[in-house]
Amino acid sequence: MRYVSTRGQAPELDFAEVLLAGLAEDGGLYVPASWPVFSAVEWRALRGLPYAELAARVIAPFVGEAIPFAALQAMCRRAYAGFSHPAVVPLVQLDSNLFALELFHGPTLAFKDLALQLAGHLFEYVLAGRDQRVRIVGATSGDTGSAAIAAMAGRRQIDIAILHPAGKTSEVQRRQMTTVDAPNVLNIAVEGNFDDCQDLVKAMFADTPFRREMGLSAVNSINWARIAAQIPYYAAAALALGAPDREVAVAVPTGNFGNVLAAWVARQMGLPIGKFIVASNRNDILHRFLARNDMSVREVAPSHSPSMDIGVSSNFERLLFAFLGRDAKLTSQTMQNFRTSGKMAVPEPVWRAVRRNFTGFTLSDSDTLAEIARTWREAGYLADPHTAIGLAAARALAPIGLPVIAAATAHPTKFPDAIEKAVGFRPALPPALADLYERSEKLVHAPNNIAHIEGLVRNFANRNA
Ligand SMILES: *Cc1c(COP(=O)(O)O)cnc(C)c1O
Repeated sequence: MRYVSTRGQAPELDFAEVLLAGLAEDGGLYVPASWPVFSAVEWRALRGLPYAELAARVIAPFVGEAIPFAALQAMCRRAYAGFSHPAVVPLVQLDSNLFALELFHGPTLAFKDLALQLAGHLFEYVLAGRDQRVRIVGATSGDTGSAAIAAMAGRRQIDIAILHPAGKTSEVQRRQMTTVDAPNVLNIAVEGNFDDCQDLVKAMFADTPFRREMGLSAVNSINWARIAAQIPYYAAAALALGAPDREVAVAVPTGNFGNVLAAWVARQMGLPIGKFIVASNRNDILHRFLARNDMSVREVAPSHSPSMDIGVSSNFERLLFAFLGRDAKLTSQTMQNFRTSGKMAVPEPVWRAVRRNFTGFTLSDSDTLAEIARTWREAGYLADPHTAIGLAAARALAPIGLPVIAAATAHPTKFPDAIEKAVGFRPALPPALADLYERSEKLVHAPNNIAHIEGLVRNFANRNA
């Protein structure tokens, strides 16, 4: 499988090269040159497989020749062996047509473990064949950072530096990053919000000499490998609910648009997903876009669902590229105008085409707490604030008669304050994290300044020199 940049000015790469590169050198995002398609017979043959086996088969066409299938299969088995539920991604019924797809049984209790645990193995495998070290830099609003650190800590050919907005993640999220005791992990608390952190990471990638000197790599959802590793769980859930012989819908609590994009790729691969419900908190750029073609940047406001506190959804560029008929020049122009003007000009017919399958939704903090309380009362199910927004969206917008797969993206114990406000008690941390509040933290504070951040990353990279 070959990969092309959405902006058309970067070299075509294979899966292993895309994994290491993260962002394309022209500022675009890598996408497969074509969508692999499974026939209905092929989909049916995946029903009932253990999750790791299903994952290997769904991811295989994206990996192509870059990694032999047996090696991919072994990595999937190892990546998901550490999950605390034997089904890895269990599906829990909450109402006649509403199902929570639990994606939080990995080591850091959020869906990002599904992709990043596998990515850790993929990085190690690909680097082992090369005399090379990579420095992973990433921005996090909470969950990406902890999942990436958990996946990369202690790996020999990798350093990882994670930028988080100081004081704007939950305490559990911060401690999951800062209490990892591994020599190759650097936590940077940036004075700013998540978009500032994301901009700093983009600026490091855009600084070509720095990027080459450091051997920079990314594990944000701009890295295609992450999207690829998020497709199998939609397939597992859809197959369990009757696909490919029955249509389903998905509802996804959304920030950077990576998770819902993976569901859309599953549809490109032939799964009958008829509706994509894109659920946002008060940071509603995607909702405004889907409602009235208003993709304009606004100040990010903190919410009970910090992993969705995002002003710009990076992965939307991949969808835009597809809906612009893979016109890289137009995509590039649209993105550059968006960057300078703060408002994306999406042609009306393209917007209409997107709207045929995608519906937006936005929920306030107080309604999020009400949804947590309702789901607890009615179904005895404790949803975290992110999951609750997806559930509320599914209840409001599900097409009649279609089963909805609602992505349950984090374990409720990650957000004890919001849960307590909603239902009156604090959920206990699971045993693996029971001493989280006692462990000592390691992090450096930094201003929102690219030269300063690059200096920190360089010093860290050269710490043993
Ligand atoms: C990252 C995250 C999201 C948003 O996912 P995207 O792929 O960025 O859209 C939603 N919920 C939780 C709990 C997350 O960690």
